[in-house]
Amino acid sequence: MHELTEQQIKTFLSVFPEAKRDEPLSAHTYLKIGGPAQLYFDAKTADDLIGAIETAKAQNLPWYILGGGSNVLVSDDGYKGLAIRFSEQIFTVRERTVVSSAGALMVLVAKAAADAGLTGFEWGTTVPGTVGGAIYGNAGCFGGEMKDLVVTVDVYDPATSKRRALPKAECKFGYRDSFFKHKNLVILKTLLSLAPGDKDAIKTRVEELQAKRKASQPQGEFSAGCMFKNFEFKDEAELEILKRQGDEIPEDMLKRKTISAGWLIDKLGLKGMNVGAAKVSDTHANFLVNTGGARAQDVLQLTSFIKMKVRDELGVMLEDEVQLVGF
Ligand SMILES: Cc1cc2nc3c(=O)[nH]c(=O)nc-3n(C[C@H](O)[C@H](O)[C@H](O)COP(=O)(O)OP(=O)(O)OC[C@H]3O[C@@H](n4cnc5c(N)ncnc54)[C@H](O)[C@@H]3O)c2cc1C
Repeated sequence: MHELTEQQIKTFLSVFPEAKRDEPLSAHTYLKIGGPAQLYFDAKTADDLIGAIETAKAQNLPWYILGGGSNVLVSDDGYKGLAIRFSEQIFTVRERTVVSSAGALMVLVAKAAADAGLTGFEWGTTVPGTVGGAIYGNAGCFGGEMKDLVVTVDVYDPATSKRRALPKAECKFGYRDSFFKHKNLVILKTLLSLAPGDKDAIKTRVEELQAKRKASQPQGEFSAGCMFKNFEFKDEAELEILKRQGDEIPEDMLKRKTISAGWLIDKLGLKGMNVGAAKVSDTHANFLVNTGGARAQDVLQLTSFIKMKVRDELGVMLEDEVQLVGF
């Protein structure tokens, strides 16, 4: 990737003087890893977000949207372009629906829905990041996913400079997948549909899920959540090598046709393994944690090693769940 020229930087700063030069992206990611973005802009409204992209386009300047930074690994060399954080915090709960800006924090939106007596989004109170990031990756846990709630997603298309509303069917949601992962669209806003429920039962469920999360995932450590997608199989023939290893595959995984990546990594005894300060969490084998000062290169070396071991010894190809930026 080419460096931005001084002229490109100055022109952008003349339109958005609050943008920053050489901003360390480690300060804006949950992993606390990543070199500087040559330009960094915090877009607090959708108009600012679109304005920044239009200004970048006019100068042929590469740009990247960040939400909460909870599912990205940024290169040690940083990002040679404009990193735009979308942080608009607007959401409303009305009757059975929630309208939320993509920049709004998931936990706040899901909590507002729960407080209003709507059920179906309790799990969202445990997922870091923004609503936009969650739609992009069809985030989910504890049996819920964004796709269960989305009615429409409003996007801005940088190719045409137009906004449009995509109905759910066009969002092509799949397991940690969506249309947005394959098409360069900016998610601005969404309409979610929930069901009315009993407020006390909803509150209890939220507390239960938060407690489960605390018990099963590393707390107070820097990570990007699950590093790898779980392995979905169509046919048990795909598990032939894994089955030869002796240990029983848990019944629920066979039933769901999904083998947990954490289970595979744990099976190989890799919990606690490290490259530099990047370490496989002792609590959850699919979480790689930064124990202090880890570099993106350390994380990549560790993920490559894990993928190789899992492929060679268990016959499964793990895929990244985390998005790579600036590589
Ligand atoms: C401790 C921990 C626990 C986690 N648990 C879960 C879990 O249970 N389930 C789960 O699914 N995930 C989980 N994650 C991963 C992460 O929280 C989710 O993927 C989250 O939805 C990412 O949102 P974000 O705003 O942080 O996105 P970011 O990390 O900022 O970005 C992720 C991707 O989304 C794109 N993006 C973000 N906003 C927009 C937008 N407005 N328009 C277009 N593209 C956009 C970015 O360009 C990037 O490619 C966890 C992460 C952590 C750190």
